[in-house]
Amino acid sequence: MSDSRASEPLSPDVSLVPDAAYTHKGLTYPLGRRAPESGELIPLAEGVGWARLPIPGSLKHINVWALDDGDAVALVDTGLNIAECRAGWEALFEGPLAGRRVGRILCTHFHPDHLGLAGWLAGRFDVPLWMTRGEWLFARMLAADVRDAPPREAIAYWRAAGWDEERIAREETKGWGRFAAMMSAVPVSFVRFADGDLLRIGGRDWRIVVGCGHSPEHGCLWDEAGGLLIAGDQVLPRITSNVSLSLSEPEADPLGDWLASIDKLRRLPDDLLVLPSHGEPFTGLHARLDALAHGHRDRLDALHRRLAEPARAVDCFGTLFARRIEDNMMGLATGEAMAHLRRLEVEGRARREVRGGVHWYEAR
Ligand SMILES: [Zn+2]
Repeated sequence: MSDSRASEPLSPDVSLVPDAAYTHKGLTYPLGRRAPESGELIPLAEGVGWARLPIPGSLKHINVWALDDGDAVALVDTGLNIAECRAGWEALFEGPLAGRRVGRILCTHFHPDHLGLAGWLAGRFDVPLWMTRGEWLFARMLAADVRDAPPREAIAYWRAAGWDEERIAREETKGWGRFAAMMSAVPVSFVRFADGDLLRIGGRDWRIVVGCGHSPEHGCLWDEAGGLLIAGDQVLPRITSNVSLSLSEPEADPLGDWLASIDKLRRLPDDLLVLPSHGEPFTGLHARLDALAHGHRDRLDALHRRLAEPARAVDCFGTLFARRIEDNMMGLATGEAMAHLRRLEVEGRARREVRGGVHWYEAR
């Protein structure tokens, strides 16, 4: 964006005429492979800008959104609490957002790549954080829980999943409370939005659509009139969101929640431009939701076949994941395997037997 319009409200860039649009696996990417560089804000629609912050690991980036909000701008999601993400914001505040007043921060869910800099941004501009109560409470709870050693529930969880005693002993030396380290201080107060609420932001009305399974009360923002869906991690175009059985609620059924959320989002119009947190904006919401549901059903069926012989969560990685699970993926893979096993149990397709604290599942 040129400097002459740096402090003007966001408006669509005519150079974005979609000659680069392409279709892949039933989804259409109207902007082609274009994505914001550091310090760049790509206008997607009147008053809606797309920026990107770098994050380490396989995700590589998170998308964040700037929405015109009267004489201010509202920011949606914030990046991790790391120098690279703070530098990304600085580049935006010196560039396309120079001269703009930040009026509020909205977060889709509590994960550190989304909420990590919310406290930093809210403090810097002295503005409120908006999110669902479930996500805010979860963040506040986790951030306050820092200990020298993992709680007994964590050790029981790892043992239940089939981790060996050597790995558990290694984890016991690491302390507890990594979440807090990834966050700027989570604001003590917040403004709640809840499922079905209508938020007026600038000239647009955004309906809150809550999903569960990836996080407790994930808020998506749906602009019906404008045909936009800020999807957070609830619908991603190329990767599947992690759905893990959480330590907080080991008897929950997050994959059941996730599949129900897919059904719920399937009731939104198919022609929305979906703005995901990772990957590029796309159309083809229903095709993507169908593919996500199908993928999980497929894996549940494969897992059911695997359970002809009794198995623990760690025995199921080969059935559930295409790639080898390295040490740094162990936690996520375990949570995901536990969620799938628990789903089979809830569906009545597997039975669980606990022997010496280890959960063995068998098909039924
Ligand atoms: Zn997430």
